[in-house]
Amino acid sequence: MPPTDATTLLRDTALRVTRPRVAVIEQLRRHQHADADTIAQAVRADLGKVSTQAIYDVLAALTDVGLVRRIEPAGSPARYEMRVGDNHHHAICRECGAIADVPCAVGERPCLQASDDHGYAIDEAEVIYWGHCPACLERAAATHLPEELNETDPQRQQALPLTEPSGIPKFENPSKETT
Ligand SMILES: [Zn+2]
Ligand SMILES: [Zn+2]
Repeated sequence: MPPTDATTLLRDTALRVTRPRVAVIEQLRRHQHADADTIAQAVRADLGKVSTQAIYDVLAALTDVGLVRRIEPAGSPARYEMRVGDNHHHAICRECGAIADVPCAVGERPCLQASDDHGYAIDEAEVIYWGHCPACLERAAATHLPEELNETDPQRQQALPLTEPSGIPKFENPSKETT
């Protein structure tokens, strides 16, 4: 099924069709889970001068009407995607920040059944699986393999390559912002 074109999507939400909005939707389709800076750069390449603030405004409007989903991984700028409404989850690489979609664990939004809802009317559950992506695992294996072959300490071997000292994901400074 070919994706509905951006203009039609916007009309269906009663949002005014503007060039920046159309451009943001098109770029979100190209850059899955992109942050606002990435989208802003891509939109500028298409349309010329558009301020980063304008891109934030467009992303907020699209998120409000449910065309775009915003995810906020700890330690990283917010990411945006066009895949909405299926309550899918994300696997995020601690090393490079790569993000992969993970379908909801078992069928119909089971994670919305909180074991204790504390009286909240729950409408969304967000799970982030933190770990290392295949590319980073491969890179780590390639780097550590020769050393590991000669390594005799079993504890050390066990620790490679999945552990990192801080356990804090390495992302760019989230507060960095250009206008
Ligand atoms: Zn990675
Ligand atoms: Zn996603």
